[in-house]
Amino acid sequence: MAKVYKNYIDGKWVASAGGETFDNLNPANCKQVLGRFQKSSGEDVERAVTAAFAAQARWRKTPAPKRGEILYRVAELLVKNKESLARDMTREMGKVLKETRGDVQEGVDMAYYGAGEGRRLAGETVPSELPGKFCMSVRMPVGVVAAITPWNFPNAIPSWKLVPALIAGNTAVIKPASDTPLSLVNIVQLFEKAGLPPGVLNMVTGSGPSVGIPLAEHPRVNLVSFTGSTDTGAEISQRCAKGMKRYSLEMGGKNAIIVMDDANLDLAAEGAIWGAFGTTGQRCTACSRVIVAKKVLKKFTDLLLRRTQSLRCGDGLDPKTDVGPLINESQRQKVQRYCEIGRQEGARLLTGGAYHTARECKDGSFFQPTLFADVDPRMRIAQEEIFGPVLSIIACGGLEEAVEIVNDSKFGLSSAIYTQDVNRAFTAIESLDTGITYINSSTIGAEIQLPFGGTKGTGNGHREAGAAALEIFTEWKTVYVDYSGKLQKAQIED
Ligand code: NAP
Repeated sequence: MAKVYKNYIDGKWVASAGGETFDNLNPANCKQVLGRFQKSSGEDVERAVTAAFAAQARWRKTPAPKRGEILYRVAELLVKNKESLARDMTREMGKVLKETRGDVQEGVDMAYYGAGEGRRLAGETVPSELPGKFCMSVRMPVGVVAAITPWNFPNAIPSWKLVPALIAGNTAVIKPASDTPLSLVNIVQLFEKAGLPPGVLNMVTGSGPSVGIPLAEHPRVNLVSFTGSTDTGAEISQRCAKGMKRYSLEMGGKNAIIVMDDANLDLAAEGAIWGAFGTTGQRCTACSRVIVAKKVLKKFTDLLLRRTQSLRCGDGLDPKTDVGPLINESQRQKVQRYCEIGRQEGARLLTGGAYHTARECKDGSFFQPTLFADVDPRMRIAQEEIFGPVLSIIACGGLEEAVEIVNDSKFGLSSAIYTQDVNRAFTAIESLDTGITYINSSTIGAEIQLPFGGTKGTGNGHREAGAAALEIFTEWKTVYVDYSGKLQKAQIED
């Protein structure tokens, strides 16, 4: 009998109001149920938001360095439990153990970084135009934050939201993706162990419509921090706009690597393989287009093909595995449909394009690493986010054309260029319309001390991580202190 996990509300682990549960499956072996989680509803959201609202008054007055001490303890607990957290994550999400360890490490980095922010949370002091007057701006908490998170980074993404939210003095209600609730339960347990007061962090599991929507619409939620697909983000933005609340959206990508004719081709191939097939292509920053100078197209395609065909698929817990399963069956069907579309559009399938049916993959949602050549930049496989192990090779005449191809996308998250020419590198940095650009490195590999996010359809202008995250999770308060002892009127001449 699978273990039953509960919601975390006001410092207690509680069953949902309806008492129903849903199963969490291992995508590498869909017959394995990892646990049963609460199928919550608006009633549970109401309880959680009420708890978060009540906890606000005390938490916002707790000195930020003291809030930081709790986050330091969270970081230390994450370090201590890294291996078991990573193993649980591989079981419920599928990516290989090396990557789930990295995912937990991102949470560690964020917790240490955020804890330190407790002694900064810097504002500004500027001179006043009047004598005997002092001017400053300080950061204030926003209030109750609702965090809605996807399944592909089950530790990192919740950390990106919870750590800055809490250090800034907000309280939070978080809803994990229904494919990865266990990883979030594991993290919340560590926050509890670290001494976070009841009500400051609450967790409610359940589906988007029954938990995510009531959260986005709740009048006492002041900010919705969402990461997920563009369609869901659009729906959340409409709900938030109706309630006049602030919201930040981190959404899809159609990321590209440019390979110039002067590139180190081995390095570029390694980067493209890691970007396309790491996390089985299920990263928002995954490389799904590689744009290659015609002069080196044949050589580079051969290199990619050889490396793609040498990748081993299997259970992410097996150290020999390079590529784990897709998150679930419906995602596998989606990837299969896109491969069909690619064929119909006239792209040339070089390898993959089908379910993985080897013995070690038969019970999981495995898909073969796939390469398409002769891809036209306007084909659907080159325009739409597939979120699977599918890489399209597109030929280009030179840098200008390559930049045009990269920018011809409704998304703008990550881009990369491989070149030895510093002029080309800086031209690319200036011209690529993406929130992140890598030089001689793949489209993936963000570090938490820098802003993360994208342009165009990838986001709504905000950035997570780094000091930039505080722009989402705090409100500016401007303070004027007049110590002149007389009425002074700014801008008014006597
Ligand atoms: P998703 O289907 O949009 O789900 C994301 C979260 O929203 C989940 O918790 C989901 O709950 C919830 N949700 C679903 N429908 C909802 C609704 N109508 N109202 C409120 N909440 C709702 O996305 P996903 O498939 O989990 O994640 C993959 C997507 O995330 C990709 O597009 C990827 O590019 C994007 N992503 C972006 C970033 C970034 O930083 N830019 C990072 C990682 C992933 P359920 O799980 O219960 O459905």
